Amino acid sequence: MSASATGESAPARPLTVLSEEEQMFQAAAREFATKEIGPHVEEMDRAGIFDQELIRKFFAQGYMGIEVPEAYGGSGGTFFMAVLAVEEFSRVDASAGVVIDVQNTLVSNALMRWGTEAQKKAFLPRLCRDTVGAYALSEPASGSDAFALETRASEEGDHFVLNGRKLWITNAQEAGLFILFATINRELGYKGITAFIIERETPGFSVGKKEDKLGIRASSTCELILEDCRVPKANVLGEVGKGYKVAIETLNEGRIGIGAQMLGVARGALEHAVRYAQERRQFGRPIAEFQAIQFQLAQLATDVEAARLMVYNAARLKDAGRPFLKEAAMAKYFSSQVAERVASEAVEVFGGYGFTKDYPVEKYLRDSKIGKIYEGTSFMQLQTIAKAILRLDART
Ligand SMILES: Cc1cc2nc3c(=O)[nH]c(=O)nc-3n(C[C@H](O)[C@H](O)[C@H](O)COP(=O)(O)OP(=O)(O)OC[C@H]3O[C@@H](n4cnc5c(N)ncnc54)[C@H](O)[C@@H]3O)c2cc1C
Repeated sequence: MSASATGESAPARPLTVLSEEEQMFQAAAREFATKEIGPHVEEMDRAGIFDQELIRKFFAQGYMGIEVPEAYGGSGGTFFMAVLAVEEFSRVDASAGVVIDVQNTLVSNALMRWGTEAQKKAFLPRLCRDTVGAYALSEPASGSDAFALETRASEEGDHFVLNGRKLWITNAQEAGLFILFATINRELGYKGITAFIIERETPGFSVGKKEDKLGIRASSTCELILEDCRVPKANVLGEVGKGYKVAIETLNEGRIGIGAQMLGVARGALEHAVRYAQERRQFGRPIAEFQAIQFQLAQLATDVEAARLMVYNAARLKDAGRPFLKEAAMAKYFSSQVAERVASEAVEVFGGYGFTKDYPVEKYLRDSKIGKIYEGTSFMQLQTIAKAILRLDART
């Protein structure tokens, strides 16, 4: 007799046991990443350019609108499924992981939560069909102190006129749509921050220099330039002066996506190390037969499992409508540490070969570094966690 038939509540499912639908989605994402993304990874990293044909495939397979309801052209999935896809893509290539991460956990997410019905109808189907999105908060002088941003939005009739510069904007090279934050009055502090939806073709808007980076080299990271860029008032996302809420709430969720990206990086690096340890022979036997290597791999696998539990827990809390702020910050903080540690030790398992570009592990190490920097540095995550456990906000 089932638990529900006896009136007992069903036993809770362990975090890493997926529903049938989630399992199928995960398996499809894994196969897609291995077969479709895998063959392009080395060349994309070398060239520092993301393959456009791959992005078309992301759209065709529904990975660019995972959580968007079917009524708006999306796949009608859950946040947890978006996290699974980011993890599986990042296991193969962290740049591919961040392309879909920004699209799903920041851009579509912000529109679904804050967009008017007209904005959702206008933009969500495009984001699911063929338009890459980007999320533009950071500026040259405001990173961690994001609400000290200087890009100005002045009211002129039924438009706002924007002037300023954004820096470090992921997906900017490919994007057709930008969620961009500006202030209507710097003296208002965070209460001046306003979110805008900006189309790439808007006069006065341009994409500037692309960064040449240590890791996630195929993912574009660019400057944005706004020179008398006229944005219709209908393109304000949320309320004027409430952009800080849009930013905080989307980034709280986005952080779980970065945790998933780092989990994928850690898993990918570990799998390579495990395989290599069984193939590489020294002293007449595979190096995996040395207890030192066994213990090293066992420790790394334990770290990956802990990161997985934290990321999945944060995503499940979000989908259940439960508080997740602290858990999301912890998941990102911890997973980015694990990714760096696993990738670094994977290089050591490969010995001298690991230090060359002929083997994949050095790329995992380079790609892992970004996890501690974007969507809030590790110190910013610790600040969020400390505030939560010490209840600092409640006392001030
Ligand atoms: C590849 C890449 C992609 C990115 N993509 C995007 C994007 O798509 N959209 C976007 O808006 N931004 C993006 N960013 C920007 C990113 O979010 C910022 O780089 C990040 O928030 C840190 O800001 P910063 O670089 O100005 O560093 P800073 O804020 O100057 O920090 C420098 C150091 O000081 C520390 N620090 C700062 N304040 C404190 C404090 N109060 N207490 C303790 N330590 C502190 C930091 O932890 C860090 O170690 C991206 C960055 C990179 C590198």
